[in-house]
Amino acid sequence: MIIKILLLITIIAVNKAEYVNYRNHKLYRVTPSSDKEVQALLDIKNNNDFLFWLEGVKVGLENRIDVAQEKQELFEKYLSDASIKAELVVDDVQSLIDNQVKRPLVRNTNEYVWDYYQTLDEIYEWMDSFAAAHSTVASIINIGYTAEERPIKGMVIDYKKIGDPYIGVIEGGLHAREWISPATCTWIIKEFLTSNDPGVRSMAEDVVWYIFPVTNPDGYVYSFTDNRMWRKNRNPAMKTSCAQWNLPDDMSVGVDLNRNFDFLWMTVGASSNPCAITYAGPAAFSEQESLALANLINNLSKQGSLLYYLSYHSFTQLLLIPYSHVQGKDVLEADNYADLFEIGIKGMDKLTARHNTTYRVGTSADILYEVSGAGFDWAKGGAHFPLVFLFELRDTGNFGFLLPPEEIIPNNEETMDGMVEMHRAVRSMGYYRGSA
Ligand SMILES: [Zn+2]
Repeated sequence: MIIKILLLITIIAVNKAEYVNYRNHKLYRVTPSSDKEVQALLDIKNNNDFLFWLEGVKVGLENRIDVAQEKQELFEKYLSDASIKAELVVDDVQSLIDNQVKRPLVRNTNEYVWDYYQTLDEIYEWMDSFAAAHSTVASIINIGYTAEERPIKGMVIDYKKIGDPYIGVIEGGLHAREWISPATCTWIIKEFLTSNDPGVRSMAEDVVWYIFPVTNPDGYVYSFTDNRMWRKNRNPAMKTSCAQWNLPDDMSVGVDLNRNFDFLWMTVGASSNPCAITYAGPAAFSEQESLALANLINNLSKQGSLLYYLSYHSFTQLLLIPYSHVQGKDVLEADNYADLFEIGIKGMDKLTARHNTTYRVGTSADILYEVSGAGFDWAKGGAHFPLVFLFELRDTGNFGFLLPPEEIIPNNEETMDGMVEMHRAVRSMGYYRGSA
C-alpha cells in the first residue's frame, strides 16, 4: 500500500515537473514606431529569450512579450539600449492561466455549457451525443488520425439532403493555444442545430456544413497538459536539438499547421527551422491534419459547389481576407476581393452592434503581418472556395490567448451575429442561388 502511494506521488511529481509554469512571468506591451525599432525587436526575438505573442513584428503593430522573472533585467536593458518603450501590463502570466482553466465546481446537468474551456475529450463526447440527438440532419465524420493517433473529428450538418449542394467548411483550433476558437466552433454547431433565429436558420440550412472545432487535437491536448502556450501540432518526425537556438528540444516536436498548406508554401512569414514556432514542416501537406482537410475538400469539390471556408483563430479582433502575402493594390489578386471586403465590413458592423467589440477587415499583410501556407489562403487559391474568411477572435491583447472564460459566450454571440449578416450579404450578392 505504501509502495503504491509512493508510486502515485512519484507519477504525479513527474507529471507536474513537465508542465511549463508561467509563474511570475511578466507581460510587456510593445509597439515599435520605426523600422529601426522593428529591427531591434527582431534581433531580441531571434535570441529566443522571450516569448513574443504575435509572430510578426511591424511598425505600429502592438505586440505582447512574455518575460520570465529571471530575464526581466536583461529584457529591460535590451529595450533601453534600443530606446524602445515597453509597458509592463501583467505581473504574473500564470495567474491569467489559472483564471482561464477555472471550472465550475457544481454542475447540475449534463448539458454542455460555454462558461469554461472544454477539454478535447469533452468536446468530442459532446459532438457524438449532439449528433446522435440530431441524427436526421447531423452526423460525425472522422477525416484522419494525428501523430499521437487522435481522430480529427468533424460534424456534418445537412438539412437539404440534395444532390450538388453548396458546401461550407469551418476549421477551428489549427493553433493549439487559441482556445477561444474551438469554443466558438462548438457554439456554431449548437446554433446551427437549435437556433430559431431566421438568419441562423438560413445560414444553417442553405449549406451543407463540415465543422471541425479542433483540427489540431494533439496540440490542443498538449496546451492543457504540458504547455499552455503551445501552438504547433505534436509530430515528432523532425525532432532535433534546439540548443543552438536557445530553446528546449521539445520545440522541434511539431509543425505550425497554418503554414503547412500547399499555397505559396514557405515563401514568407514561415520558418524552415523545426525549432521555430512558425515551422512550416519539411514539405507542404507533410502533416496529417492539413492533408486530411485538403483531401476532404478535394472530395467535397466533386460532390457539390464549394461556397464557404471559414477559419477561426485568436487573437487581435480581425476579419482576414485572402491572400495573406499581399497588401495595397495587390489585394486584388483575390478575384472577388471587393465582394469579400464588403461582406466582411457588413458582418463586422453587425458583430459590433452586439457588445461593442470592434473588428478590422483586410488582408493579413495589410492589417497584421505577411504569412504563407495558411489553410484559408489555400482554400481560396488552391481549392477555389469563393467565400473565404479568417476570424482572429477576441481580444486585442489584454488577455490574448488567455481570454477569461467569462468572455466565451459574448464572443460567440457577436461572432454568430457577424456570420449571419455576412450570409445575408452573400445571398443578396448572388453567391447563393438556392431555392430556400
Ligand atoms: Zn492562429
